[in-house]
Amino acid sequence: MVSSNSRRARAGRKRQRRMRTADNDLSPAQWLEIKEVWGGCAYCGRSGVPLQRDCVQPLSVGGRYTVGNIVPACRSCNASKCNAEVTGWMRRKGLDEEAFLRRLRDVMTPTPDLADVDSPDHPDPVEPEAPRG
Ligand SMILES: [Zn+2]
Repeated sequence: MVSSNSRRARAGRKRQRRMRTADNDLSPAQWLEIKEVWGGCAYCGRSGVPLQRDCVQPLSVGGRYTVGNIVPACRSCNASKCNAEVTGWMRRKGLDEEAFLRRLRDVMTPTPDLADVDSPDHPDPVEPEAPRG
């Protein structure tokens, strides 16, 4: 049976994997890195407190669990922000929204996902059909 090994099946599996790894996930190592880069709560700057993952763009409005969308937040910021739109919320809290956005842009320096980029039609070697018998 060849069907499970067909080009279409492979592409499907690849897409699924990418969804999991790049679009919606954050490895423990990445999370550590993020905490280190921010050095404390991304919003109020408090350090030395337990930090929680906060989605800059709430999942409810299309935000995802990725490096560029996760920042460390102290418990109080996290609870207060909840699903609020981040800039509006920061303004209400009197936090430095511009500094935050600048910082976020730095942190978000695009990480080229070379390993997993769809290779533009890499023709599969065509194997001649082996004669049965
Ligand atoms: Zn905070």
